[in-house]
Amino acid sequence: MSEFEGLTAIVTGGASGIGLATALLLADRGARVACLDLNPSVDKPLLGLKADVTDDASVRAAVEQAAAELGGIDIVVNNAGIGAQGTVEDNDDAEWRRVFDVNVQGMVRTTRAALPFLRRSENGAIVNVCSIAATAGLPQRALYSATKGAVQSLTLAMAADHLPEGIRVNCVNPGTADTPWIGRLLEKADDPSAERAALEARQPSGRLVSVGEVAAAIAYLASPLASATTGVALAVDGGMQGL
Ligand code: NAD
Repeated sequence: MSEFEGLTAIVTGGASGIGLATALLLADRGARVACLDLNPSVDKPLLGLKADVTDDASVRAAVEQAAAELGGIDIVVNNAGIGAQGTVEDNDDAEWRRVFDVNVQGMVRTTRAALPFLRRSENGAIVNVCSIAATAGLPQRALYSATKGAVQSLTLAMAADHLPEGIRVNCVNPGTADTPWIGRLLEKADDPSAERAALEARQPSGRLVSVGEVAAAIAYLASPLASATTGVALAVDGGMQGL
C-alpha cells in the first residue's frame, strides 16, 4: 500500500517503541517522516531531529526544520510520553507538573507549532497517543491515568476546533504494548516474568499488544482512508475496553 505517497509526517518520541514503529510504517507506505525526540538516532529514510517537547523553542525549531526538509507537514503523531507509578500519595507536586508537561503540554506545544503547516495540507491529520489508562481505572497509575484522561479530552476539543479547517484529530488508546518502556518496567520488578504474566492476563487476548498493531491504528487514523473520522479514541488493547 502507498496511501501516504506525497505526504509528510512528524512523530514525537519517534526514536523508540510505538513512535519508531509508526514512523517506519508511514515511511514504508510512502510518507516522508521526521522523528522528533530527545535522542533522535534513527536510520534513513527517517529524518531524526532533536527536540524536547517540554521546551517550546526546541519544539518550534524542530517542527520548522521538519517542514523545511520534508516540504510541509500533513500529519502529526503526538506520541512522546513518560510513565508514572503510584497512588496520589506517591508523587509530589513537582512530579505531577513534570509528567503533565511531557504527556499533555508536549502535545499542545507540538500541535501549536505544526498547525500553520497542517492548514496548508489536503490531508491535515493529528493522532494523539493516549492509553487505555484514560478510562480503565488502573491501580497504581493515578498521575499517568490523569495525563491520558486529559489527552482524550484534549483530542475531542481539538477535533471540534480544527474540523472547520479540514484538520482531523483522533487518538489511539493502546493497552500494554511490548516496547522498551515496558521492558524497563519489567526489569525493575521483583519477579519480571510474574509481572509480565500479570500484564498479559489484564488483556482479554492474554498477550501484550505489539508496536506494529498500535502503529497500524495510528496509520489508519492519519491516512486519507479515515477522511470522515475525527474525534474518536480507537482502542488497541486486546479487547480490554470492549469485552
Ligand atoms: P518508549 O519509552 O519506548 O518511547 C518513548 C520515546 O519518547 C523515547 O524515544 C523518548 O526519548 C521520547 N521522549 C520522552 N520524553 C520526551 C521529551 N520530553 N521530548 C521528546 N521526546 C521524548 O515508550 P512507548 O512505550 O513507545 O510509549 C510511547 C507512547 O505510547 C507514550 O505516549 C505512552 O504513554 C503511550 N502508551 C504506551 C503503552 C505501552 O504499554 N508501552 C501503552 C499505552 C500508551
